[in-house]
Amino acid sequence: MWSNEKDRALRERAAEVIPGGMYGHQSTALLPEDYPQFFTRAEGTRITDADGNEYIDFMCGYGPNLLGYGHPDIARVVAEQQARIDTSTGPSPLIVDLAEALTGMISHADWAMFCKNGADATMMGLMMARAYRGKRKVLLAKNAYHGSMPWNTPRPGGVVAEDRAHFIYFDYNDPQALTDAVKQAGDDLAGIFAAPFRHDTFADQGLPDAEYARTARRLADENDALLIVDDVRAGFRMARDCSWETVGVRPDLSCWGKVLGNGQPISAIVGSNRAREAAQSIFVTGSYWFSAVPMAAAIETLRLIRETDYLEHITMIGDQFRKGLVEQAADFGFALKHTGPSTIPMVLFEEDPDFKLGYGFCRAAMKRGVYMSPYHNMFMNAAMTRTDIADTLEATGAAFEDIKQSRASLKPLAALAALMEA
Ligand code: PMP
Repeated sequence: MWSNEKDRALRERAAEVIPGGMYGHQSTALLPEDYPQFFTRAEGTRITDADGNEYIDFMCGYGPNLLGYGHPDIARVVAEQQARIDTSTGPSPLIVDLAEALTGMISHADWAMFCKNGADATMMGLMMARAYRGKRKVLLAKNAYHGSMPWNTPRPGGVVAEDRAHFIYFDYNDPQALTDAVKQAGDDLAGIFAAPFRHDTFADQGLPDAEYARTARRLADENDALLIVDDVRAGFRMARDCSWETVGVRPDLSCWGKVLGNGQPISAIVGSNRAREAAQSIFVTGSYWFSAVPMAAAIETLRLIRETDYLEHITMIGDQFRKGLVEQAADFGFALKHTGPSTIPMVLFEEDPDFKLGYGFCRAAMKRGVYMSPYHNMFMNAAMTRTDIADTLEATGAAFEDIKQSRASLKPLAALAALMEA
């Protein structure tokens, strides 16, 4: 029987010693009521919460779990490397091996630099774009997430207007809006930041329009500015290369994180020779950026990306998940919007402006052992099998039945309603 007694007790303790009880994207404040906050185990496709409830996990740690939690090949190289050297006075030779591996796989890349989080990589992209020709203006798509620094965090706390002084926002996938934003930058355009596809929270996803991507490339060239693709979220779930290879456009820089070490803390920025001097000119570093264990994990992850059919598999499994959910919803009289790549799916209900159907549905599925998000895109991982999807659909079938029965009494989440009003 599902219970969350331990989770509740932990939350009470957390509220005393952690501001707000939890912070950032792993706070459950915006998730449906009763979603577990704390987890004690992750293996393959499953996570176990502090009360011992097990879930088929469709969030994959918000992305990093690409090949399965605790993948044995990666676990082995991690243990072996841990026994030799990790964080020390200089990098291990693995940094060179890893840079060679990554530049060998990403078509536009001639060099690589490593860091810890996605936000480190996007910050370096920003600095390199400005260092490139000493210009200031940077273009960002409205609502696109690139990290939680003052220049890109989605919430206003702790941010002053000057932090955003040289950013111009445009509508994703709209070549005209992009062109207008470039005009606004005049002769001060440093760079254009592009999400590989539209993956804003609380919204349908959108694949990149090839014309839009080509316009971004052309405008960057005409203005001697850098084009940056932020592949932190989409990386290696759309291609075994930069995600914009799918639309035939090569950026000058791309940012990587999440899947790179299949969960080990490592991120990267890679670039073409055009951006090499700018990359060399900035001072960036971190105490843990050169640690060898995550690099060993990344080298092994990249090998598995090159040598296995993980991408075809997660596409097949993702398609199966999508088809099953949409058919099931229709059977119960609901219309689902299942958007974006099937390997990074977003599932929202039609005619659900306050998200109460989606929240009710995810909560009912969670109590039956399936962990999904009602507002953030999800992530497929290569350990997922057809049987996992069948088990998932059994739980979601019961969840649809549940919200069909309780539809009239479903209430919107108060915290979400307050956020949407703000
Ligand atoms: N860019 C994108 C597209 C992301 O999705 C994220 C994380 N969700 C980031 C940057 C920031 O990554 P991190 O949380 O590792 O700093």
